[in-house]
Amino acid sequence: MLDTYSREINYLRVSITDRCNLHCVYCRPKEGISLQGHEDILRYEEIIRVVSIAVKMGLIKVRVTGGEPLVRRGCIEFLAALKRVEGLKDISLTTNGIFLEEFVRKIFDAGISRINVSLDSLNRDKYFKITRGGNLDAVLCGIARAEEVGFFPIKINTVAIKGFNDDEALDFARLAAEKPFQIRFIELMPTGQKMNYGEEYMPASQLIEKISQKFELEPLKNKKNRSDGPARIFKIRGGRGEVGFINPVSDHFCHTCNRLRLTSDGKLRVCLLNEAEVDLKNALRGNCSDEELEKLIREAVLLKPKKHDEVCVENSLKKCLRNMSEIGG
Ligand code: SAM
Repeated sequence: MLDTYSREINYLRVSITDRCNLHCVYCRPKEGISLQGHEDILRYEEIIRVVSIAVKMGLIKVRVTGGEPLVRRGCIEFLAALKRVEGLKDISLTTNGIFLEEFVRKIFDAGISRINVSLDSLNRDKYFKITRGGNLDAVLCGIARAEEVGFFPIKINTVAIKGFNDDEALDFARLAAEKPFQIRFIELMPTGQKMNYGEEYMPASQLIEKISQKFELEPLKNKKNRSDGPARIFKIRGGRGEVGFINPVSDHFCHTCNRLRLTSDGKLRVCLLNEAEVDLKNALRGNCSDEELEKLIREAVLLKPKKHDEVCVENSLKKCLRNMSEIGG
């Protein structure tokens, strides 16, 4: 699937629910968001149909996300069904890790061995605060269990927030030195949530500087057989794991963008920081043919902008009007 700018689009992030068992302050409002009803979200068989058609068009990689994917009933069976889609080469899951310990063996047995866990603090109280109630120990137990079961790689995604977790940069780097994890710091993005974006945004360069004071970072070239996506990855010299930096704000990677997003309510979103979406749900529920669905997928591919609009850090210009939990991050 080539887009207008000759980028090969072969990656789909699928949000299977907008519900989440956490309320991270930068992701969802305290009072909750208007949750989509059962009929509003795509059924698993509808998602499998979209994926199967997209695979015939060139899709090779799917990441299952949410909301929190593990809160939707039937998630494991859905993962197993995805695994059976012929031609789909790479399936992974992004989770907040709260239910990981309970489900990790089943996820593995469903044939998924790549997992990303979101974790913004290694301090119990801070984790509780940023997630509005999350239990850090549950996540750490889930990650430990994932390692035991044989998940590889285990990636830990940490949104860098100035004044909140920038003082933990070295703790996270230490974790990556001790364990075979890839800790990826993600720049905070301006999304549907109102916040002091300009004050909280922290460019990756500042984190690299902090970590380099204690650890020697060796840049790794993104190799074909790795799954680093847009992250700049560094090996920690003498350590077991890696640290990575995903910089959608300071150094956007639009020229290498290969993805579409399927929202929980059945829209193909063409870019995180652009509101263009193509509705698939109406077509799916209106008994459309495979050819019609293929046409809509192609329409979304061709709608992809060359790059997302510049994010204006100082004015906290809001660029993604939807909350991340509906889109899947
Ligand atoms: N519940 C799952 C999880 O926690 O990984 C999947 C959904 S969550 C929306 C996906 C990712 O988006 C998480 O790593 C989260 O931290 C990230 N995210 C949400 N809002 C963000 C923002 N404003 N800037 C950067 N990352 C954000």
